Amino acid sequence: MIQLYIPLNFLGVIYREIKQSLADMERLFGLLDQHREVADAPTAQPLQVHGAEVRFSKVNFSYEAKRQILFDVDFAIPAGTTTAVVGHSGSGKSTLSRLLFRFYDVNDGGISIDGQDLRSVTQASLRKAIGIVPQDTVLFNDTIEYNIAYGRPGATREQIVAVAKAAYIHDFIESLPDGYATMVGERGLKLSGGEKQRVAIARTLLKDPAILIFDEATSALDSRSEQAIQAQLKEIARNRTTLVIAHRLSTIADAAQILVLDHGRIIERGTHAELLGRDGAYAQMWARQQARRDEGSGSPGSADAA
Ligand code: ATP
Repeated sequence: MIQLYIPLNFLGVIYREIKQSLADMERLFGLLDQHREVADAPTAQPLQVHGAEVRFSKVNFSYEAKRQILFDVDFAIPAGTTTAVVGHSGSGKSTLSRLLFRFYDVNDGGISIDGQDLRSVTQASLRKAIGIVPQDTVLFNDTIEYNIAYGRPGATREQIVAVAKAAYIHDFIESLPDGYATMVGERGLKLSGGEKQRVAIARTLLKDPAILIFDEATSALDSRSEQAIQAQLKEIARNRTTLVIAHRLSTIADAAQILVLDHGRIIERGTHAELLGRDGAYAQMWARQQARRDEGSGSPGSADAA
């Protein structure tokens, strides 16, 4: 029996290993699949980044022929400033970030960075210029060091430690029995939502992109983590052209520009103060979130649910 058990047990381990590798591959190919939607033009040139001004010009877009998602979306993010997008769930906020990363091409209109249409530059140079802090950070089944270094293959240990310190995750890492060699991911140490976001921030710092996309998590972190992460993001967004997909209006009150998206159209735009003064959709969302906060529901509320 024991003789049988050992090989079977061994097979079980192998099976789990393969399954996990497949899960990793799936994730990778999930990303690559999205890349396959677009191809470099034969004449594509590397993107030349100056200040990294981002411009959406009358963009119309649909994932599927019969269902248009964005309508005449027209805005610019001046170089080095932050623009936040708010709106109901499904209004098209994340679609803007996918188009900026050129996972898909627009149907009409265009998107440019420093005057260069995304379709005229190489995808590799475009993706090098953009850093994304996603809603839910995927951790690879590897060491925490590897997971941070993923932002810039070939980074030195000193560089990794420097960004981990800047993302306020160094002390946590040092407190782990294996430090930077600690295995994380599904098979290793599970990190909390806030810790995972810090890894994503460290990764992004290492990448040092001119353009930053921050897709705010819908699920609330505890308020101390939330505030700490907001402070760090403000720090990395400084002097970078930043697009924030926001769910909590309180986190974007000082954005240079706020766009309110409704069913794929920009229905309001301005600063927080201007939009409150207008007493329109944004002001209503704000009032609802404040009311929820005052009720002490514990949740900061979401613009989606507004
Ligand atoms: P949330 O706040 O819930 O994240 P959102 O405003 O970011 O929502 P998007 O993710 O941009 O919304 O989605 C806009 C619309 O596009 C939704 O109706 C969604 O169902 C649709 N959509 C998103 N991705 C795809 C896709 N790959 N194929 C087809 N439709 C899609």
